[in-house]
Amino acid sequence: MNYQANLAQIQTEISTLAHQYQRQAKDIRLLAVSKTKPPEAVSAVFAAGQRDFGENYLQDALSKIEQLQDLAIRWHFIGALQSNKTRAIAEHFDWVHTLASTKHAKRLNQQRPEHLPPLQVCIQINIDAEPQKAGIMLNDLPQLLAEIDACPRLQLRGLMTLPAQHPDFDSQFASFERLANAYQDLKQQGLALDTLSMGMSGDMPAAIAAGSNLLRIGTAIFGARF
Ligand SMILES: *Cc1c(COP(=O)(O)O)cnc(C)c1O
Repeated sequence: MNYQANLAQIQTEISTLAHQYQRQAKDIRLLAVSKTKPPEAVSAVFAAGQRDFGENYLQDALSKIEQLQDLAIRWHFIGALQSNKTRAIAEHFDWVHTLASTKHAKRLNQQRPEHLPPLQVCIQINIDAEPQKAGIMLNDLPQLLAEIDACPRLQLRGLMTLPAQHPDFDSQFASFERLANAYQDLKQQGLALDTLSMGMSGDMPAAIAAGSNLLRIGTAIFGARF
């Protein structure tokens, strides 16, 4: 796998899409999603210049974080949060994209070690209101925002979504645009946010068109997962 070439190709695609949608490529950050991939793959992508990596599976992630502790990687947890996982996440990750309950906010806040900076968090929104999907409804945002505001060890950075599997650009765009509007509303209310975490390998163009500033890309960098 030529990770350097994969990364270069994605950066080129991001630049092309940014230009197409009147945006600046430098405003669109890339999170390399390394779930299920070995530490050697992560270090190879790191060597190609990538610094932010996303992981879903806690045990798999902890072993990579341990093995790669000498590399200046920012680790993002993007998997399902459960109460029995919050302590290890608070201790070993820099970011969490999947915060969706006051209970988990309280736990992460209490468990974030004093010697580390506040945990950087995004609230996960269930933008298509799917019954089984993680994330809160937009209506429930005010309550969770208030809780996070009362958590000094958490720093809210923005919103994240994993939309339904829409087959075409227009329906992908419609979901992303709803999240982008909610994000802009919060900024207008005065919240200092800088992260709209949306878009993956299969829906990057619609996410960029709708205003994503953090793409979570796995397959297009690391190849297919088995
Ligand atoms: C796996 C995953 C991604 C990356 O998906 P690809 O299609 O491989 O780019 C992004 N976000 C989340 C939350 C994921 O679980």
